[in-house]
Amino acid sequence: MSNNSAIASRRKSVAVKVGNVTIGGDAPVVVQSMTNTDTADVDGTAQQVADLYRAGSEIVRITVDRKEAAKAVPYIRDKLDKWGLDVPLVGDFHYIGHQLLTSYPDCAEALAKYRINPGNVGFRKKKDSQFSTMIETAMKFDRPVRIGVNWGSLDQELVVQMMDENAKSNSPKPAAEVTHEALVVSALSNAQRAEDLGLAKDKMVLSCKVSEVQGMVAAYFSLAEKCDYALHLGLTEAGMGSKGIVASTAALAVLLQQGIGDTIRVSLTPEPGGDRTQEVIVAQEVLQTIGLRSFMPLVTACPGCGRTTSTVFQSLAGKIQGYVRERMPEWRDSYPGVEDLNLAVMGCIVNGPGESKHADIGISLPGTGEQPAAPVFIDGEKKYTLRGANIAEEFQDLVEDYVKNRYGKAKDRSVTE
Ligand code: SF4
Repeated sequence: MSNNSAIASRRKSVAVKVGNVTIGGDAPVVVQSMTNTDTADVDGTAQQVADLYRAGSEIVRITVDRKEAAKAVPYIRDKLDKWGLDVPLVGDFHYIGHQLLTSYPDCAEALAKYRINPGNVGFRKKKDSQFSTMIETAMKFDRPVRIGVNWGSLDQELVVQMMDENAKSNSPKPAAEVTHEALVVSALSNAQRAEDLGLAKDKMVLSCKVSEVQGMVAAYFSLAEKCDYALHLGLTEAGMGSKGIVASTAALAVLLQQGIGDTIRVSLTPEPGGDRTQEVIVAQEVLQTIGLRSFMPLVTACPGCGRTTSTVFQSLAGKIQGYVRERMPEWRDSYPGVEDLNLAVMGCIVNGPGESKHADIGISLPGTGEQPAAPVFIDGEKKYTLRGANIAEEFQDLVEDYVKNRYGKAKDRSVTE
């Protein structure tokens, strides 16, 4: 969607179909997320998948950690289908994935993709046979897999071997660098092994997750250079609140800007009682603010300062963003293109009129000591001046009219053309 020449062209990757969604190739970068419910709880998990999907997660991963979870998967799929939600489900397997996938074929069939962590498939001889079983199951059900390496569960035999080789070399590298190399080696060697077993390249997505930004960036730069598999990006265990959001955004932005990454997940730790869908909103906002995709109109708002000591403009900015989010499900259907709408809510005359003129529709509220009037700019021109106690409601109505007039026409055109 972006015409911004500062963004490098997308790295060429092999497209992978996951249910009705394509990861890689020419497809837009896909947003995905993961539930934190007990998968054995069919109702709770189906509800959270539905919430994540409705918030914009195009693929949702669920953990399949024991037989009760494996048994529940087809029922979760059924519920989602009954609700008309065609969201691909990915099963996250560790330790006993080979057993679960073979003992519960309905589970294997209900899932659109399997995530395999090569560090957690067993040790020595068992590792090879258990990994093979999972790949063979994927081939039997014609499902893609993600070879998902994570530095918290990196194959220790491989790490020890690479550390030993490094120690014996003439110019040993820092241990962290060797670990990052081990992540990439693990991902690529297991992908090669899967190919040797017969899994096609267009059935594989790779990831190398690290919980610190520079390590993640280094690992993905290396991975991107060495292969053309589709890549799943994510900073693992990013953390809570602003720390998690900033760290994830920093890592994802660097890679996406360089054209690396075919699907992203933002792994936020929810606040107690917090909303799981926050990770979806952050992922969408990362892609939209970089200019790679549009999901929803964004509200430009100034930070406020001593020139506007009232809270009117802050609450208006919050209300308008909330209003847009609330209206989006209907707008998306009725007004194609509305996701590109730009709004501005500004605090005073200093930057208010200028920023509002740049937006499709913007309002500049009166700062301290200014005339109690709020000019509204539409398509760069001052069209109205709002006054009094109902500015928020009146501006909201103007936004609704603008959307209807501008994007309703777009829809009419597309129908008649
Ligand atoms: S637009 Fe006005 S209120 Fe907002 S940050 Fe700038 S000077 Fe402060």
